Amino acid sequence: MDHPIKQVAITGGTHGNELTGVYLVKHWSAYPDEVTRDSFSTELHLANPDANQQVRRYIDQDLNRQFNIHDLNNPELTGCEQQRAKDLNKLLGPKEDPRVDFVIDLHTTTANMGMSLIFNTNDPLVVGMAFYVKQKMPHATLFYHPSDRLEDNFLTSVGRLNGFLIEAGPIAQGLLNHHVYSESQTAVTHALDYLEKVNQGETIDLPSQMSGYQFIEKIPLPEDASGEIIAMVHPNLQNKDYQPINPGDPLFITLAGETIPYAGDATVYGAFINEAAYYDQHIGLSLMKKVDVALEDTK
Ligand SMILES: [Zn+2]
Repeated sequence: MDHPIKQVAITGGTHGNELTGVYLVKHWSAYPDEVTRDSFSTELHLANPDANQQVRRYIDQDLNRQFNIHDLNNPELTGCEQQRAKDLNKLLGPKEDPRVDFVIDLHTTTANMGMSLIFNTNDPLVVGMAFYVKQKMPHATLFYHPSDRLEDNFLTSVGRLNGFLIEAGPIAQGLLNHHVYSESQTAVTHALDYLEKVNQGETIDLPSQMSGYQFIEKIPLPEDASGEIIAMVHPNLQNKDYQPINPGDPLFITLAGETIPYAGDATVYGAFINEAAYYDQHIGLSLMKKVDVALEDTK
């Protein structure tokens, strides 16, 4: 193999009120054997300790939107998370020539998304990881959002390979739930096992494609002229992540009880439906399309 994985970083608490990753990082810091493999080193980091201390998603900005190469190199961006992103870029990167090969970032969602494996690249090593974890955890969902690594604004993009975001839910912000905790722990274990097998040159039997969902766009909550929210997610849509939304299906219901239907002309799928963390930007849900994700042959 040309570029074996030597250095893996597991990060938690990128959003300070997502405690699952925070406590997994604390746990593994006390029991490093669980995340140690023979062929690479694993390092553990609390990504946003200041926000975590206040049990807030962020202090000034969403940390997981600050890792675009232009923002990292922009000296005028001095907010708390903008600065923290630069520190993490020094610690794990620099993005242009990273020290760390692979970042696994732990997140939770208030939406009913179960175990979602979010990856932003078609690189066969990363797609292979998603396929491997899904083989071990068939209930997991592949969430594919291809992007250019340098332009990508996620923490996972600071590694040499555009890494892997584990998004588990549903869970409220600011609390632990053993099911979500152990699901995340299991997914990381499989992800590390996969990297170990790749490094050892083991044959891993993976399909050439698997079904998943690709991000299309975020849909704002309806607002009035002054920017106040005037509607919420429709009860028919609540908890229906990754289920079809057909033209005319109810999307929102106004404060007065009037249904607002989906106005698109093709069937789509919802994700992050009524995600609490998206209320700061008045986002109601993400729209996804169903796709077959291809695992390109590396040989
Ligand atoms: Zn998060």
